[in-house]
Amino acid sequence: MVDRYLADSALASVVAAWALDHRVLAPVREGAAIVYRVFTEDTHPFLGRPPTSSAKEALLPQTGDLFTYLYRKDRADLTRTEVFLSEPPPPEPTLILGPRPCDARGRHLLDRVFLERGVIDPQYSAHRAGTLFVSVACTSMQNTCFCHWTGGGMDDESGSDVLLHPLGTGGADGFVARAVTPAGEKLIAALPEATAAMLEELAAARAAAPAPEAAPDLSAVADAFLAMFGDLDFWTDQSARCLSCGVCTYLCPTCSCFNITDENSGMKGRRLRTWDTCMSALYTLEGSGHNPRFSRAHRLRNRVGHKFCYHPREFPQAAAAPSGLEFSCTGCGRCIKSCPVAVDIRGIVLDILAAAAEKAEGAP
Ligand code: SF4
Ligand code: SF4
Repeated sequence: MVDRYLADSALASVVAAWALDHRVLAPVREGAAIVYRVFTEDTHPFLGRPPTSSAKEALLPQTGDLFTYLYRKDRADLTRTEVFLSEPPPPEPTLILGPRPCDARGRHLLDRVFLERGVIDPQYSAHRAGTLFVSVACTSMQNTCFCHWTGGGMDDESGSDVLLHPLGTGGADGFVARAVTPAGEKLIAALPEATAAMLEELAAARAAAPAPEAAPDLSAVADAFLAMFGDLDFWTDQSARCLSCGVCTYLCPTCSCFNITDENSGMKGRRLRTWDTCMSALYTLEGSGHNPRFSRAHRLRNRVGHKFCYHPREFPQAAAAPSGLEFSCTGCGRCIKSCPVAVDIRGIVLDILAAAAEKAEGAP
């Protein structure tokens, strides 16, 4: 596929052209945050930093109708009520602009949950089929990033339809636009070709980028987690600061918990799916009052275990990471950056490995 050039000065008009036949979700600054908003002629997309929220909202909206319903009494027999269900209209074709490679890779992990467990989720499937990812490669890693632990990288193309590689040190401002899928190729077909000088600049910048600190060996983490599963003191220590606010899960590109509620108005209503968080005590509260994950220790254990043990065990064939395991975590670091009390999932993973090794050494 031909590499193309997207000049900074052309960005607004190119995005406006995409918006003619897509709902474009563009990153914009709002205070200190960078959030996705539907692009209009007044929108100024900001691609200079990774968005605060994840691209998950394009595929799994924070709130969305599963169906609407209408009750109708049978006038001839008032003991009978009929129920009519209507599916929501299909989602608009959508283009999300500005996710980083870690975010884009998250869509494969959401696919595992909503498409690859033997049951296809129709709403997710419709959003997934109609959404294009125009992502931006990273030029440096923040101190919360650890994508290379989980099989990703600053210019990882998996999950994107187009990957924009920032230029800027060699004269041309803007991006080399590289199509990853045929749909992406179509999207950027009208852009001018990137010049040889631009591609050289890109290659030089990539070669000069400092290599991240070596990733730890995570090949034993799923087994180590199981070895530490029953050690509640360990989990109580790890979760001591946690406030159960759920920010880590709402911002995560791979967390997929949701709740289902009905909103009624007289004889009609709608059934909604809304993001939920396994970090909340209410998430597992049963009708009887029993709660199998009643403490923060139980809940943090579940979140970490889901990502680094249950997921790789459920999808062993999907290995992409250097560890040979696929984790339900892309190493985006949002949960670390946004946690109000600095709970760091990297530290927890390393502590699991160390504690399990210590336990194994002490075993008779
Ligand atoms: S963001 Fe931090 S405090 Fe909030 S639930 Fe997650 S780990 Fe706990
Ligand atoms: S668990 Fe944290 S680092 Fe991993 S994908 Fe989710 S938000 Fe990103």
